[in-house]
Amino acid sequence: MDNLSNISVVKDILSRHGFTFSKSLGQNFLINPTVCPKIAEMGNARQGFGIIEIGTGIGVLTNELCKRAEKVVAIEIDERLKPVLEETLNEYDNFKLILSDVLEVDLHKLIADEFEGLDVAVCANLPYYITSPIIMNLLESRLPIKSVTVMVQKEAGTRLLAKVGSRDMGAVTVAVNYFSEPKLLFNVSRGSFMPAPNVDSCVIRFDIRENTPEGVSDEKFFFKTVRSAFSQRRKTLCNSVSSSMGLDKSVVAAAIEQSSLSPSCRPESLTMEEFITFSETLKKLI
Ligand code: SAM
Repeated sequence: MDNLSNISVVKDILSRHGFTFSKSLGQNFLINPTVCPKIAEMGNARQGFGIIEIGTGIGVLTNELCKRAEKVVAIEIDERLKPVLEETLNEYDNFKLILSDVLEVDLHKLIADEFEGLDVAVCANLPYYITSPIIMNLLESRLPIKSVTVMVQKEAGTRLLAKVGSRDMGAVTVAVNYFSEPKLLFNVSRGSFMPAPNVDSCVIRFDIRENTPEGVSDEKFFFKTVRSAFSQRRKTLCNSVSSSMGLDKSVVAAAIEQSSLSPSCRPESLTMEEFITFSETLKKLI
């Protein structure tokens, strides 16, 4: 169905199915007709590609994905949307719905079972309450995918798009830049959604790196160190890491010195290479 961003069509479908929005599931559906075609086109929905969509709503983005991609598998947690999607997507035979929490789905298996011979990309207008866990789960599990294109609220976008070594960065900034090259595609105003949220959104594409940065011998330890570094934002790297990892300050200070960093440096001043050197040095000292 092509007019799923038309407010009267959306209202009619929802009322016929007795559907009411769930705030706790982050249900803000897109009603701006220009947004979904752009996400689909810029998000690699084309022949030769299988797309995983997270959170279908009534299928407004799914419809644009199905038109363009070879196959679309969508994961939606809200079972009440099943009959809605049977109506709105009934013309497509390249669509499959999985009713589940995306964080519970074995995505490696899904890709192997559903997308043999295809390149794979993820596209989604993400539920805002689990933006970071979903993005980190997609990136950290090293899925065989080309890109992740997601709509997120502006605030989350600021961290995800921050440059490593800049004031806006956080642990998630280091992680997304380790696995991918993030790029802002476009901004979306709050009025593009029903119901309208209190903030604007933006669409980001993470192009997955074929090779992650060199020099990390233990990814688990690396990301633990990064998270500890940002656990108390106003503290120095030394204070933050020692208190969060339960380490003696002198050990952390030695790792900082041996990594040629300033004793009073703060985590947001470190580059990716400096984080790697620091975590490798720390690992050898403890
Ligand atoms: N794609 C639709 C659109 O753009 O109008 C809906 C986007 S809405 C922001 C987020 C969707 O994700 C909702 O349909 C919601 O039910 C679903 N959702 C929320 N939590 C989820 C989870 N843990 N796993 C899968 N889907 C989830």
